[in-house]
Amino acid sequence: MGILAVGSIALDSVETPYGKAENALGGSATYFSASASYFNSVSVVGVVGTDFPHADLEFLKKRHVNIDGIKIEQGKTFRWGGKYHDDLNQRDTLFTELNVFEHFNPIIPDSYKNCDYVFLGNITPSLQINVLEQIKKPKLVVLDTMNLWISIAKESLLEAISKVDVILINDSEAKELTLESNLVKAAKKIFEIGPSVVVIKKGEHGALMFTKTSIFSAPALPLEKVCDPTGAGDTFAGGFFGYLSKSGVLTDEVLRKAMIYGSVMASFCVEDFSLQNLKNLSEEQIANRYKEFVKLSSF
Ligand code: AMP
Repeated sequence: MGILAVGSIALDSVETPYGKAENALGGSATYFSASASYFNSVSVVGVVGTDFPHADLEFLKKRHVNIDGIKIEQGKTFRWGGKYHDDLNQRDTLFTELNVFEHFNPIIPDSYKNCDYVFLGNITPSLQINVLEQIKKPKLVVLDTMNLWISIAKESLLEAISKVDVILINDSEAKELTLESNLVKAAKKIFEIGPSVVVIKKGEHGALMFTKTSIFSAPALPLEKVCDPTGAGDTFAGGFFGYLSKSGVLTDEVLRKAMIYGSVMASFCVEDFSLQNLKNLSEEQIANRYKEFVKLSSF
């Protein structure tokens, strides 16, 4: 059985120095599912409004993502708008319109309750806990979050983190969560909360993975064309968890390769707007980019 993914499904309006996209497919569950679908089967639970384009649902179906758990509710789909600076690591959120997402109550269909692999994408921590309570006995749970929940729901975020095996978090969030400016110390503090693997994403500077016995650094591929970094973190999560779940074991070697597959998928994501570049990748493209990462970091 594949991965159950829960998170936001959005229509994003994004402006970068290279152009703009209006009402384009976005959301944490969407980027994650499209990316993970290259490695394993994915069932997604989320909510959209009646305005959600049919073509976007079709896109997920074409990627063999099971969308039976996407509820279509009366009202408008969650919308998010962002504008990137010339330094693409800096972005301003222009608007967040929750719409039907405001009262999202993820009901896990009976057929998903026995799933082994669970991805808790960016939603309120109390909903992440609620999802976990509905799953029988997962083998591996991965959680992603964002700075908003550290600011407004830290207690329930800490509870959610205490229940998962792997946390994906970016460097500034890790510092904010643990009140530690040193990432090694921050990772150690997160181990104390519960997870046994801590992945700290550093945008264009790659990602660090901490286990209790080792540290691994995955580079980001230096790309000539970075068009839109939106969703890179969720796409990383999709490659990472997609590969881990397909491998079925949690050895150091598998975890390290998963970090590279995460970076491979994120590198494709940022080369175009929205999920354009995740639509139709071939096995060969993924394998070739994996080799580029090997070349980039061997010495
Ligand atoms: P990232 O670039 O990894 O931060 O992910 C961007 C995606 O997160 C966009 O597609 C947004 O639709 C989605 N997003 C933005 N704000 C929120 C939020 N408060 N809750 C859930 N998803 C969000």
